[in-house]
Amino acid sequence: MTAEPSPDSLSLPLELADFRPGSVWLAGAGPGDPGLLTLLALQGLRQADVIVHDALVGERIMALAAPSARLEFAGKRGGKPSAHQDDITNRLIELAREGHRVLRLKGGDPFVFGRGGEEAQALAERGIPFRIIPGITAGIAGPAYAGIPATHRTANQAVILATGHSCAGGPDWKALAATGAPLILYMAWKGLPGIAAALMEGGRSADTPVGVVTDATTERQRVLVTSLGACVADLEASGMEPPAIIVIGEVVRLRPVLDWLPKELPHG
Ligand code: SAH
Repeated sequence: MTAEPSPDSLSLPLELADFRPGSVWLAGAGPGDPGLLTLLALQGLRQADVIVHDALVGERIMALAAPSARLEFAGKRGGKPSAHQDDITNRLIELAREGHRVLRLKGGDPFVFGRGGEEAQALAERGIPFRIIPGITAGIAGPAYAGIPATHRTANQAVILATGHSCAGGPDWKALAATGAPLILYMAWKGLPGIAAALMEGGRSADTPVGVVTDATTERQRVLVTSLGACVADLEASGMEPPAIIVIGEVVRLRPVLDWLPKELPHG
């Protein structure tokens, strides 16, 4: 006989922080695997009255929400109709003022290419109490789930996290190329042809290894290893689809030894 989960079984063994009515927790959900949630994010999922979540937060994580929680989708996804940032921020303010415990749940880490800073700024301006709960960012966890370390003592002493999105003009690719440090790129799917060309112009060799990880840490994860010179054609031929993290640098060469992920993720 399987017992219905009792309200007790939904609580955590320890209360980590006080989730006050009228406050907002701005939390990262990690890149997909529920095992990568922090305990604070899980506490938020259990205790929130309203959860405002993004497209990048998967179903397996949303399934951990308390059954009584109201779920509001605030998707922002390149190319698709998406909620306006101001509308999301205003909604958070409104919900907090109504006295709810509001969990604002974002993919990865809220302060890494996640606009968490903008939302927190608006809350701070209105005097709404908030807490920031960091999450494991896709740019670190994605490569790790593909057996690619962000740093490796014999390979690099620095690593660059960069966005491939050109909304604010985009990074200076030639300057980044000149550092010699591996690049971990977010939102770089569409811009890859221009980015790869600029990096090669900036001095990175066409042989530089490139690792692409799509749907990282989920059961749909796929990995492609290619080179800077061939990545655009190889990616097109792969049939893979975003979201993707793209790693460019010698650390990618460690994958054959460090690839640890069983074909089936131990998703329980
Ligand atoms: N705050 C998030 C990043 C949001 S920007 C974080 O810290 O991870 C959105 C970009 O993140 C996507 O375009 C993609 O480049 C990357 N991304 C997020 N989740 C991902 C996943 N599960 N697999 C691969 N890339 C992912």
